[in-house]
Amino acid sequence: MSFFNNLIVSAVQLMPKSVVGFFSKRYIAGEDIEDAVKVTRELNRQGIYSTIDVLGEAVQNREEAIESKNKALEVLDTIVQFKLNANLSIKPTQMGLAIDEDFAYEQVRSLVQKAKEINSFIRIDMEDFPYTDATFRLLRRLKQDYDNLGVVVQAYLIRTYDDIVVLNKIGTNYRLCKGIYIEPASIAYKDKEVIRKNYVKDLELILKNGNYVGIATHDEYLVNEAYRLIKELNIPKNKFEFQMLLGVREDLRNKINNDGYKVRIYVPFGKDWYAYSTRRLKENPQMAGQIFRNLFSLK
Ligand SMILES: Cc1cc2nc3c(=O)[nH]c(=O)nc-3n(C[C@H](O)[C@H](O)[C@H](O)COP(=O)(O)OP(=O)(O)OC[C@H]3O[C@@H](n4cnc5c(N)ncnc54)[C@H](O)[C@@H]3O)c2cc1C
Repeated sequence: MSFFNNLIVSAVQLMPKSVVGFFSKRYIAGEDIEDAVKVTRELNRQGIYSTIDVLGEAVQNREEAIESKNKALEVLDTIVQFKLNANLSIKPTQMGLAIDEDFAYEQVRSLVQKAKEINSFIRIDMEDFPYTDATFRLLRRLKQDYDNLGVVVQAYLIRTYDDIVVLNKIGTNYRLCKGIYIEPASIAYKDKEVIRKNYVKDLELILKNGNYVGIATHDEYLVNEAYRLIKELNIPKNKFEFQMLLGVREDLRNKINNDGYKVRIYVPFGKDWYAYSTRRLKENPQMAGQIFRNLFSLK
């Protein structure tokens, strides 16, 4: 990333909230569940699936965590009510993982149970490094009783290949992504090419073992590498899907969809949109730079 882009990325923090809100509209379905339904219906019409996420991250107390769980239960009810081709993504700290692991386990268990009853699926997002082990412990505990859940692994973490070796053994369903949080160089690769190389290595390990994987990337190089592996290893279509974020690389998602592969879009909605939006803007220095130039010329 260029010096200018680095500067822009750090400056996103300084943008007025209203400006971040205006420019991040494309990444978020809206504030209400009806907005997520509307976006999912349109995607479904195009033959694309969604995974719905109620925006929000680390909660302060149990009451907030319970409220988050209730909102997630409402999403599951809504999926049934509107017959959506969708499942649910959740953040473990939103369910109370940073407060108490047993409490978070009970919370997520009730979601996975409900999802099982309606034949749906829960994806546990992966957050930053302090929660990696606790998130895998949560997965392992739930996997003893349920199959309708999966976790996320991040190719930028040095440990991920070894984690996959272990998690493959319990039939883990994965989402593989590069990783979005800023982690120290002692635990995470920093170089773009090294992360790409690791992503391909991780993907190959998952596919060769026959585990299901959501290939989550907008990086055309990685999409092509995934195509290559799928062909070379003769992987059946019921063992993988491609996943992308709402509002990002729609051209590429349409291409994958037209190529006959399953595509799922991450559809976030809710009032807690700020942290999610700043992460998206930081990933897109071009847009962040444009915003700054506009702000500048207004003054
Ligand atoms: C479905 C899904 C779920 C995810 N879940 C998690 C998770 O649980 N934990 C986690 O740490 N990370 C998660 N991520 C984020 C992920 O780790 C990456 O940070 C993100 O996908 C960017 O990496 P990339 O592979 O798309 O490659 P990049 O090299 O970052 O992007 C490739 C290209 O995509 C385009 N692009 C990327 N981002 C944007 C943007 N915001 N706006 C416009 N264009 C853009 C650009 O053209 C860019 O060149 C998820 C990503 C997806 C797609």
